[in-house]
Amino acid sequence: MNEMEIEQSELLEKLNHPVFRFVSQVADELNLETFVIGGYVRDIFLNRPSKDIDIVCVGSGIDLANAVADKFGSKARLSVFKTYGTAQVKYRNLEIEFVGARKESYRPESRNPEVASGSLQDDQNRRDFTINTLALCLNSNRFGELADPFNGLQDLNDLCIRTPLDPDITFSDDPLRMLRAVRFASQLGFFIDPDTFDAIKRNKQRIEILSKERITEELNKIVLSPCPSFGFDLLDKTELLELILPELCALKGIETKEGIGHKEIFSHTLKVLDNLAKNSDNLWLRWAALFHDIGKPAVKRFDPKLGWTFHNHNYIGMKMLPAIFRRLKFPLNDKLNYVEKLVSLHMRPIVLSDDEVTDSAIRRLLFEAGDDIDDLMLLCEADITSKNPEKVKRFLRNFRLVRDKLKEIDEKDRIRNFQPPIDGNEIMRLFDLPANRTVGVLKTAIKDAILDGIIPNEYTAAYHYLIQKAAELGLHTVINE
Ligand code: ATP
Ligand code: MG
Repeated sequence: MNEMEIEQSELLEKLNHPVFRFVSQVADELNLETFVIGGYVRDIFLNRPSKDIDIVCVGSGIDLANAVADKFGSKARLSVFKTYGTAQVKYRNLEIEFVGARKESYRPESRNPEVASGSLQDDQNRRDFTINTLALCLNSNRFGELADPFNGLQDLNDLCIRTPLDPDITFSDDPLRMLRAVRFASQLGFFIDPDTFDAIKRNKQRIEILSKERITEELNKIVLSPCPSFGFDLLDKTELLELILPELCALKGIETKEGIGHKEIFSHTLKVLDNLAKNSDNLWLRWAALFHDIGKPAVKRFDPKLGWTFHNHNYIGMKMLPAIFRRLKFPLNDKLNYVEKLVSLHMRPIVLSDDEVTDSAIRRLLFEAGDDIDDLMLLCEADITSKNPEKVKRFLRNFRLVRDKLKEIDEKDRIRNFQPPIDGNEIMRLFDLPANRTVGVLKTAIKDAILDGIIPNEYTAAYHYLIQKAAELGLHTVINE
């Protein structure tokens, strides 16, 4: 058996899914030339799981979808998008898109093309990359026959992202494809063909016509890919990063004074992201890794005694986040708060492990991080990128100590998400106070006493401590006990 024969038999196996048999029958009945095309076919060859199936036929995709939905019966849900000439059938956990083969022509100001019906080859021409043009025929007399006019299969073997037509036209027509190129490279571990790569650089300004939502959708997929630094490196080299996230580009380069250079923050950041990616698929934690040092350029100083310093960069970085989130139309509120918290606290566990790890410091960290403490520890661990193996070993050892201690204190003192047992209202009532500074002082005194381990996290202890503190301020309870 030669290679092609093995592939053919494997292919038929992959197309053995009842969905394809159904579509095949209906396509024959309607006498429509029909193919499964694009990502689904690419993923068959790559042995990747794929859930959305794209079907293209030479004729009306909507007619085909209608007939297929009929055949599936009551279990299928059909939605028709008349304006786009497409239809979707949902069947069990599958989403099947139907479209008639089409030709597209673009106007410069929009990524929405004029559409006319066309041949299979016309439809393949309008697709973004050769690896996404592959089509397998579903009609019974040609079932499983591959249509591959651009040698997409070869590019799959060569791990190559390449546009089927002139890349300048492909990218100028729809600039989202530039981000998709980087995204596929990052997800699949492919390289971008040099001509295609150069065209991205030439057409980079065209991303201006894209909606922010489409950009972030691709960015998120890059962030979630197995080795995200690969994608960010490509975004940087294609010069797209400058246009999308200049705050990350500002991390590049090393300044030297009196012969002393600092760590290169851009490559360090990408390393932290990769480290984290090995341990977490949490999208927003990964974004926190990308943003953890963005405050550094603004606060960088050279001190002849201390060398390079970045005082307060965690705080400044946190302050930069709302503007970035708004600009990229990231979700505000809880996601923003979460990333802010992680960026502002990202050095705390490591500072702890440098000094004596006191119970009080651990309690304070637990109080501030709350339920995000485990994510913070993952970020902080990923942040250890020193090239000195001794240093790394020492950090990791201390770090284990911090983790053990965190666990011990968390179980013992229930500090995570804790609310002081006596609140401001009760203080006002007890001492007949208006809402003033003194209330705040007493409230903080209780919180600090608990965090410092002076009193346990309990009502009675807090009450007695409060009475004593209030007495020091000349205050006495107005309520008889
Ligand atoms: P994934 O589903 O993993 O994101 P995919 O390749 O299936 O990858 P989809 O967005 O589902 O991507 O698109 C399905 C197919 O439609 C692609 O394989 C490609 O052939 C075509 N396609 C999608 N978006 C574009 C585009 N912007 N320009 C040209 N062709 C596109
Ligand atoms: Mg898809």
